[in-house]
Amino acid sequence: MFQLDQLLRENIRQLVPYSSARDEFKGEAQVFLDANENSLGSPLTRWYNRYPDPHQWKVKEALSKIKGIPPQHIFLGNGSDECIDLLYRAFCNPGKDNIIINPPTYGMYEVSAHINDVEVRRAVLLDDFQLDLVHLETLVDENTKIIWICSPNNPTANSINRQDIEIVLNNFPGLVVVDEAYINFSRHRSFIQELADYPNLVVLQTMSKAWGLAGLRLGMAFASEAIIEVYNKVKAPYNISQATQELVLAALEETGQVNDMIRALVTMREQLVQDLALLPLVRKVYPSDANFLLVKVGDARAVYQYLLQDGIVVRDRSKVELCEGCLRITVGTEKENQELIQALRTYDAGRIVS
Ligand code: PMP
Repeated sequence: MFQLDQLLRENIRQLVPYSSARDEFKGEAQVFLDANENSLGSPLTRWYNRYPDPHQWKVKEALSKIKGIPPQHIFLGNGSDECIDLLYRAFCNPGKDNIIINPPTYGMYEVSAHINDVEVRRAVLLDDFQLDLVHLETLVDENTKIIWICSPNNPTANSINRQDIEIVLNNFPGLVVVDEAYINFSRHRSFIQELADYPNLVVLQTMSKAWGLAGLRLGMAFASEAIIEVYNKVKAPYNISQATQELVLAALEETGQVNDMIRALVTMREQLVQDLALLPLVRKVYPSDANFLLVKVGDARAVYQYLLQDGIVVRDRSKVELCEGCLRITVGTEKENQELIQALRTYDAGRIVS
């Protein structure tokens, strides 16, 4: 049975959260002398001398319309990386609790655990990059607080079977985080519509990928109101800047443009799959539900270095378990993808000659 109160760290359960000036006064006023801001203004033309809305209600309301999730079920973080870190700080007792990851997967689940002195248990994915449920189950004990599932997964690019995620949600009494950073590029349905069925579910999404706003730093966590309250209790008072809130709000008006970009990126991804598959050095292009490809090339280090000399940076994942000989390649613009293919052709031609 999932019981949020028991899962929480005792000090967080008892925490009296910081109450900011913007929390204590809500309403209309002309003279704001409550927050020790610079009353004269700022070097910029905007009202950046004022603290931003600590709960980002306008952004949450706009997101709520797009996602079909009430604003009270949404937490916004400084990138999903903040949404990840805060779960450790709220739920995991340093030096005592543990979490489970399913590697190869996104690196911050592990790094953030280490920062918070939380033990990491590893249920390595099966050869088809799906969850190893049998192994996963053996790793759970009474101190296991979180299971991290990334779908579509980074760096393997595939989606995790929905039924397997449901099995974990139905059987694990701690938090199950489904990180959907790449969901907009996938053929599969998001888990955000399942929040009512699973009180232990946290879904992460981000403005950094399909929305094209990695520079603004805005991540989203969707969960029960109770979990969102925990997030709000432990976050820094003004964790999302005014500039980010304004710009994200403007971007959320442009769903049409974003959908066009998603369609274009998916089309280019499929073209890149075909072009890569024709190259002799490419041994395998794994199926992708994301905006990147995992590509097995054999001598990944050599190919990586060769591309670098040509000014093209990809990610060498060859040291990562199950990814021996693999590069992770982001889908670029049409021109960038052509440059990549051309460089790889030249690499191949050089190999044949020598
Ligand atoms: N989750 C996954 C699976 C990612 O790949 C990334 C970034 N590469 C993140 C989360 C972090 O995203 P953000 O920019 O929102 O911090």
